[in-house]
Amino acid sequence: MRAVFFGAILSVIATPNLQADEFNLPDLGDTTSGIVSLQEERRLGQMFLRSYRSQVPTSNDPLLHHYLDALLSKLAQHSPLINRNFDLVITQSASLNAFAAPGNIIGVNTGLMTHTQNEGQLASVLAHELAHLSQRHYARRLEQQQNMALPFYTALLASLVIAASGSADGGLAAMSATQAAAANAQLKFSRQNEQEADRLGIQTLIDAGYDPYAASDMFEQMLRAARYSRRPPEFLLTHPVTESRIADARARAMRYPKKLAPNNLEFHLMRSRVRALQAETPQRAIDVFQGELNGNSMSVDASQYGLALAYNLASQPQKAHKALAPLLQKEPERLTYRVMDIDIDIAAEQYDQAIEKLRSGLRTLPNYYPFNVRYAEVLMQSGRYQTGAHFLTQLVRQIKDDPYLWYLLAEVNGLAGDVPGVHEARAEYFILIGVYDKAILQLRNALKLSESSYQTALLQERLRYVEKLRADIDRG
Ligand SMILES: [Zn+2]
Repeated sequence: MRAVFFGAILSVIATPNLQADEFNLPDLGDTTSGIVSLQEERRLGQMFLRSYRSQVPTSNDPLLHHYLDALLSKLAQHSPLINRNFDLVITQSASLNAFAAPGNIIGVNTGLMTHTQNEGQLASVLAHELAHLSQRHYARRLEQQQNMALPFYTALLASLVIAASGSADGGLAAMSATQAAAANAQLKFSRQNEQEADRLGIQTLIDAGYDPYAASDMFEQMLRAARYSRRPPEFLLTHPVTESRIADARARAMRYPKKLAPNNLEFHLMRSRVRALQAETPQRAIDVFQGELNGNSMSVDASQYGLALAYNLASQPQKAHKALAPLLQKEPERLTYRVMDIDIDIAAEQYDQAIEKLRSGLRTLPNYYPFNVRYAEVLMQSGRYQTGAHFLTQLVRQIKDDPYLWYLLAEVNGLAGDVPGVHEARAEYFILIGVYDKAILQLRNALKLSESSYQTALLQERLRYVEKLRADIDRG
């Protein structure tokens, strides 16, 4: 069992649809939070997110992003949170962790998926995080600590980066655990805050239609994980899971009728996905899923899906196709299966077929993120560089802050021979992952190639913006 860490949890000042550009935020006249303004909150959040991405391996998997985004939105609708726009960051780490940071940043480790047994348990952790946000626990702490925003931000970043990289065993990990412990001790919320987050989190869970016992089940799951962990269970510092906490959660659940388990299939498919992607080798994943299909499986369809994915990762598209066939036959419209089917075409270099399926999919579901990402990827892979560059240029106008899309755009611009385009897209990519020196370098290269005064002015403005971001980091 790997390290267990149920994160340092912060809250945000909930605001009505805070979507404005961070340079041009309206003054919403927030007086209740006093010390940290909304602008500051948003600025700190984005600064945090970029620094976090620069130091921690994150996942670009479009299916996981789509699934977790949808789950968060669903829970947020049943929480008292006013601002329901999140920045979701998925960390590739086997440890159990989730966190919320100022500015509506939600972080989820892939390990959270593998340590939960159903969607209700996963939702219980996320609902707890949302409650810290809606109750402005972060702002309240800052009020107590007298303008500690920047040290707080630095401590948060340090502890989360250590937590994310702390799944490795050995001396370094042990040392990091001590540092993480020190940082976490500062970040710990009061017992009252935790009780409030538990209470509201369970209410959100129930209102969203989940089994009320999912929260107490999850706490028990964490205790079990802690018991078998070789590393000190850091989550006990921020989230002491005691018998009384479990008893409280169970007592609250008892007031509601026990729900039949909702349809968990999509959860189990995504759980299989994480397990296949984080397996040591694709062959190891093939063995695991085949073993489940021959013995015990939490969800036969999910094991079958995992097997198809593992074969595809092992570059055996024919076997993948055969493994997926019964699932597609059962539910030909399930999007997760349709994407798998397309991924198998891509692995088999059947690009025309994949493109046809994606075009047809995008006609009915133009905003389905996995179709968009795959379409961009396959255009590039099949040598359609101009079309790919055009498609991605449109896409980054709709989704401005997705580092992976900018990364793809830089690649395809390069293949299409658009050198200024490479520099500009790379600059945006480096900004979003917090590597400002490289972003500045890319913008300077783009400036040298600029052919119009308008373009030059735009690039210079962008350069000043990045230089300011870098100065902010140095101050923090
Ligand atoms: Zn908490």
